[in-house]
Amino acid sequence: MATYEYRCSDGSLFEASHPIGSAPDTLPCPSCGGPSRRVFSAPHLSRSGSQAFRLIDSTQRSAAEPEVVNTRIPGRPRRAQQYSSNPLHRTLPRP
Ligand SMILES: [Zn+2]
Repeated sequence: MATYEYRCSDGSLFEASHPIGSAPDTLPCPSCGGPSRRVFSAPHLSRSGSQAFRLIDSTQRSAAEPEVVNTRIPGRPRRAQQYSSNPLHRTLPRP
């Protein structure tokens, strides 16, 4: 089965699935019932496996939700930074 596009004379576009090589040249429009001619368009090529697609996908994903980092940033010493000298602040609950 392949998906074919048809365009009605009123401009509406719809898709229909037919076996390859047996798609009719005209189909009745699902909205107005008029004859719709088949439109030849580029096939939907899959680029989901490419490295460029993965980069775009991870960039879009990290825009709203940053990725979890499991290791610390190299080159930075792991030292707790002291923001307050009040000893009572150490007893406050930590997140
Ligand atoms: Zn129509």
